[in-house]
Amino acid sequence: MEKSLPSAGKLWLVGAGPGDPDLLTVRAARLLSMADLVVHDGLVGDGVLALIPDGVERISVAKQRSRHTMRQELINELLVRETLAGKQVVRLKGGDPFIFGRGGEELEAAREAGVACEVVPGITAAAGCAAQAGLPLTHREDASAVSFVAGQCKDLSDQDWSGLAGHGRTLVIYMGLATAGAITDKLIADGVSPDLPVAVVERGTTADSRVLRTLLTDLGDLVAREQVASPALIIVGKVAARADALDCLGAPGAAKNMQKIGDFT
Ligand code: SAH
Repeated sequence: MEKSLPSAGKLWLVGAGPGDPDLLTVRAARLLSMADLVVHDGLVGDGVLALIPDGVERISVAKQRSRHTMRQELINELLVRETLAGKQVVRLKGGDPFIFGRGGEELEAAREAGVACEVVPGITAAAGCAAQAGLPLTHREDASAVSFVAGQCKDLSDQDWSGLAGHGRTLVIYMGLATAGAITDKLIADGVSPDLPVAVVERGTTADSRVLRTLLTDLGDLVAREQVASPALIIVGKVAARADALDCLGAPGAAKNMQKIGDFT
């Protein structure tokens, strides 16, 4: 008798949103409940991980203190191998898979290996943090363009910061804590006003998030003074002055911890 073939596996690159499990998409939640294997990174919130049913295999490729993150090539190999073995594999990533999430590399690896792959978008940190802070990334009065920039990239010095911030623009910096001072210097050297409002959202949409406001010239000092910890997002532009103490998403504790620094009025 012919041995039946294993059912075809599939890889799903799924955005987990910025932390609050309520910000998961319905599709992402559905996929978590039918997955054979979930491969997640450290940014995925505990509340989201709690939605993975018991018995579903999980692999964390999160950064650990003593170890580096699993190398991207090894993650790609793992995803391809497990999917080719016939599993429904959910690769769960913080925010959106295609925004600083290396989802593009994983999709390419899947394509090269002939593995079926589908991408499920997630709410990126910029959208989640801005909503929580009551800070519109665009505003008819203040900003008609938004840039998402990585503060830590292969060659930060090669990044052309000119034109990314200033009149009519909002600059959102991911992974910018370590380089906040250097970025500030570059922006000011490019002619951006040192008095431009800035908001820093730490652990956005989670129970212990903080929203800090200051002026561009003080950004580096604020990060050090307040010991802002990762993950945190930096939003530079006039819209940052609109950040308020409203707890728009209802994340418990967010309003309590909301801090305002700097006076924009
Ligand atoms: N794919 C993710 C971004 C990954 S890069 C997304 O779309 O959101 C990691 C960076 O994202 C962090 O260093 C931080 O700058 C930002 N980030 C992710 N989650 C965050 C959160 N809950 N609060 C603040 N910043 C966050």
